[in-house]
Amino acid sequence: MEEKLDILLEQSNKKYWENFDGRTYFDRAIFLSWYCSIGDCKFCFMSTQKDQIKNPKLAKRQINSLYAEALICKHMNWKVGFLSGGYGVYDYEKIVEIIKNVYQITGQKQWLNIGVVPKDVLTKLKPYVEGVTGSIETVNPSVHEKVCPSKPIDPIIKMYSDVDTLGLKKGMTLIIGLGESIEDFPLLEKFIKEHKIDKIVIYALNPIKGTEFKRGPEKEYYLTWLAKTRISFPKLEIVAGSWTSRLDYLSLMKSPGANSFTKLPVWKVIGTEKAKTISKEMEIAERVLMSDFENVLDIDWEKEIETIDISQSDRKEVLDQIKLYLSKKYEE
Ligand code: SF4
Repeated sequence: MEEKLDILLEQSNKKYWENFDGRTYFDRAIFLSWYCSIGDCKFCFMSTQKDQIKNPKLAKRQINSLYAEALICKHMNWKVGFLSGGYGVYDYEKIVEIIKNVYQITGQKQWLNIGVVPKDVLTKLKPYVEGVTGSIETVNPSVHEKVCPSKPIDPIIKMYSDVDTLGLKKGMTLIIGLGESIEDFPLLEKFIKEHKIDKIVIYALNPIKGTEFKRGPEKEYYLTWLAKTRISFPKLEIVAGSWTSRLDYLSLMKSPGANSFTKLPVWKVIGTEKAKTISKEMEIAERVLMSDFENVLDIDWEKEIETIDISQSDRKEVLDQIKLYLSKKYEE
């Protein structure tokens, strides 16, 4: 296994450098709410919360906290990986307003991961959106049926064809460790080819307390999925999952050829020793880290907030929220 993985990593690293230039970003997913009307995917934090949240509207995020997060992303040069969640919480009109504002704050067109969105809404979102992500999670059909009983893939595929007609990009998520095996890799290859996927986010399962999953996948197994994906799709944008307990894996994730990394509990990282570990890991991987985790204190946030087109009292809330995020007292 080890020897075979070595060969895969060598090949995937070569493919990466033939097609990319080493610039590596942190991708930050911004969540719209702490509730999801589907709520029964077996691995998901939301599935542990659904029964406890009597009124989904109360699980809405304060929008000003979301804008605060977007502003921090802009200044730390983190990419907003996608705007995520919110199924059954906001009406589409509100979602369009939020995404437009995040686009204005960051100056970047956004990726969405907000479930199956009707075509007329996608049309309204188009000016602010680069692409739409389908939460595929696993390409093994029987595993999918078991772990995502209320989230079938067919409506996502139908949405992909709407996304195509609007000229937007298509993304997908994949979680390694849900019960699939590496024998399923050809199914992933087929899916990416068939639906002309532009961006894939590949997570290693991070077991959530209260779910049936107790262990994440072995490192070698996860790296094998990443490497094989890069070898089969040299130009695909690949985002690799990560978390602080495995920061020492970051350099390893680069050999399989990921373009960026995501899923850091980032408020506990900025300005700490962990931030330095990230920089070191990127050096080991001979990558150029484009995102900042260290210099957050140099920014005049009050001045920055003046540029957002919201009321003065909302601006004050955004500023308070930025201070809370940067205080390291904020728990994700
Ligand atoms: S649809 Fe997404 S947010 Fe909702 S339960 Fe499933 S994985 Fe979690």
